[in-house]
Amino acid sequence: MIVADGLAHVRQRMATACSRANRPVEAIELVAVSKLQPPRLIREAYQAGQRIFGENYAQELRDKARELTDLGELQWHAIGPLQRNKAKYVAEHAAAFHALDSATIAEELDRRRRGPPLRCFIEVNMAAEPSKRGVLPGMVPALLAKVRPLQNLNVVGLMCLPPAAEDGEASRPYFQKLLQLARSLGLAELSMGTTFDFEVAIAEGATAVRVGTAIFGERDAT
Ligand SMILES: *Cc1c(COP(=O)(O)O)cnc(C)c1O
Repeated sequence: MIVADGLAHVRQRMATACSRANRPVEAIELVAVSKLQPPRLIREAYQAGQRIFGENYAQELRDKARELTDLGELQWHAIGPLQRNKAKYVAEHAAAFHALDSATIAEELDRRRRGPPLRCFIEVNMAAEPSKRGVLPGMVPALLAKVRPLQNLNVVGLMCLPPAAEDGEASRPYFQKLLQLARSLGLAELSMGTTFDFEVAIAEGATAVRVGTAIFGERDAT
């Protein structure tokens, strides 16, 4: 798969979804999810104009950030669950964190962060799936109250990863509920939608979509 083509196709699908939803394309950040993909492909995407890259594993993010320092405008977004002893890598290298789900991690990130506040999304486990990370919808206000006073973090919105399904349409009610929850808490941003359902997410108000496979092709199973 040629990364520039994958990227162009995703951008085109985003543009179509935006025009259907009557939303400007600039309202949506495309996070190119590069986890388990080699730095060479990140360079290809960068050359094709992509600037925001999403990584799930903190050490992999750190290693790639060190290797790709010459790509001056590149922004890393950490999108996966984080352990306390790895929070320093995210605090040091990331511009945003999409999977905040505990006050302990928030405090560690706050303690380690230098420079501009880390943009954070609270991850919400919308369907209360035992296998999933994230806080239950009813627990979001309590976490938010603990995180808001931290000066080196800036909670901008909510994130979710709906249950696996046959069809991206199945994600729609979860995206709608996430939007309502964010509005009720005065949060402006919504990180929702992957290769599987990003057009539905855009229709339902996503401000960031996290797309990997449609840009880079399949990841090696590890
Ligand atoms: C892997 C991953 C994605 C991207 O998934 P694709 O199906 O490859 O687009 C998005 N969000 C999270 C949290 C992920 O772990």
